[in-house]
Amino acid sequence: MTDSFVIAIDGPAAAGKGTLSREIAEQYGFHHLDTGLTYRATAKALIDAGLPLDDEVVAEKMAREVELAGLDRDILSRHEIGEAASKIAVMPAVRRALVEAQRRFSEKAPGAVLDGRDIGTVVCPDAPVKLYVTASPEVRAKRRYDEIIGKGGSADFEAIFEDVKRRDDRDMNRADSPMKPAVDAHLLDTSEMSIEAAFQAAKSIIDAALSRNA
Ligand code: C5P
Repeated sequence: MTDSFVIAIDGPAAAGKGTLSREIAEQYGFHHLDTGLTYRATAKALIDAGLPLDDEVVAEKMAREVELAGLDRDILSRHEIGEAASKIAVMPAVRRALVEAQRRFSEKAPGAVLDGRDIGTVVCPDAPVKLYVTASPEVRAKRRYDEIIGKGGSADFEAIFEDVKRRDDRDMNRADSPMKPAVDAHLLDTSEMSIEAAFQAAKSIIDAALSRNA
């Protein structure tokens, strides 16, 4: 047991969980870990070293060297890194190594917000607050598309849509720690909800849990 209050936030990419997690961590003065970055950092280290993405022993060794303090989404955001991350994320030894580091992070007082795919089910199954943030694949692909166009880039909606579905499929159907809501998770579907409305919904769930814990 520790004195940390853990908020577990899971869900697929581009559902809004990153923004929501950062806002929640700021609101409550909690530490925040985007666990997707731990998989991305492992994948990037393998690519940079010219190592294969299908050797579990090599990938586990890399996973154990990931420093949580230095993770930067700007450096790790590239599409190929996300693809590679979802490939090494199917390996149980890689997951074990990263989950150990994530659990240590979750013990930070006064509290920690962890977001990912398996936080409420595997990493922190005893978290007093679990949220599963989702949105339809069409809406998530459109958000990705708008983001790229907004930054002055060019994008193909159909290709992004196919990509979102492929990544969901890999994350939901892997044998080890598939992405799914914990039985006691609160579902937040952001397809037709603003981030502000999602934040207010999350805040009432968290405030209720904090007062139960007090
Ligand atoms: O969230 P993000 O897109 O950065 O995650 C990259 C990949 O890392 C995901 O597609 C998923 O395969 C993997 N991941 C995971 N478990 C987590 C977080 C991310 O398997 N807790």
